[in-house]
Amino acid sequence: MANCYVLADKKTKQCVVIDCGGQHIQASIEIIKSNGFKPIYILATHAHFDHIEGTGIMKDAFPSVPFLVHKKGAKVCSRASKQLSDVCMWMIRRDIIDADDYFDNGSVFKLGPNLSISVLHTPGHSPGSTVFMVYIKKVLTYAISGDTAVMKGAAPMFWEGSLFWTKMSFVNFLEHIEKEANRVDLETFKLLPGHFAPLPFMKIRNGRYAKKAMKWAAKQRERECLALDI
Ligand SMILES: [Zn+2]
Repeated sequence: MANCYVLADKKTKQCVVIDCGGQHIQASIEIIKSNGFKPIYILATHAHFDHIEGTGIMKDAFPSVPFLVHKKGAKVCSRASKQLSDVCMWMIRRDIIDADDYFDNGSVFKLGPNLSISVLHTPGHSPGSTVFMVYIKKVLTYAISGDTAVMKGAAPMFWEGSLFWTKMSFVNFLEHIEKEANRVDLETFKLLPGHFAPLPFMKIRNGRYAKKAMKWAAKQRERECLALDI
C-alpha cells in the first residue's frame, strides 16, 4: 500500500493530497477536516492502482476538487482498476476514477506565498511517473517521489517500464537535485517516498545503489556518444 501525503500552507490553509493510497485515506480526510484545510488538488505521482485506489473516496469527501495526473499517465489511470482486479483478485473496488485534468513537466502548484510544488517528470517506473518538488520559502525541502526512488532509499521499483528507463529516471532525479544545489539545503532535504518512511536525501545520494546507478548511467551515455560518433 502506498503512502498518502497531505501538504498544506499554514497561512492560507490550502492543501493538496498526493497519492490516495487506500489504507491512509480516512486518516487523511480526517486530518484535512480537523485542521480546516481547503484541498485544491488531488495529485498522483503516477497512476498505478496502489497510489490511486482511494481517489474515489477522497473525491466523495471533496467532490469539487480536481484529480490530476501527468498527461502520460492518463491511459494507465484508466487501466488501474483492471490492475487492481488482476493483482488483488478478491477485491472489487470502485474507488479508482479517471483524472479530471493533467499536468506536465514544470507545472507549478502554489498553495500560498511560501509554499509551492513543481512537477519533475521522471518517466521510467511508469510513463507518467512524476516527482513533486516541494519548495518552502523557495528552498527545496521535500521530494515526493512516488516509486521513482523508493525501497528504503535504494533501488527504484521496476514494474511497468523497462529496467533501463527505471534506472535512468532515478539518475535523472539525482542529477536534477544537483542542478538545484543553490536552492536546497542538503542537510535537511528529505525524500518522501511512495512506500516506507521518509528519509534524508543524502542517505540515498551516498548510498551504494545511487553510486552504482550514477556509474552505470555514465557508461550508458558514453556508449551512446560512441555510437553517435560512428
Ligand atoms: Zn508504481
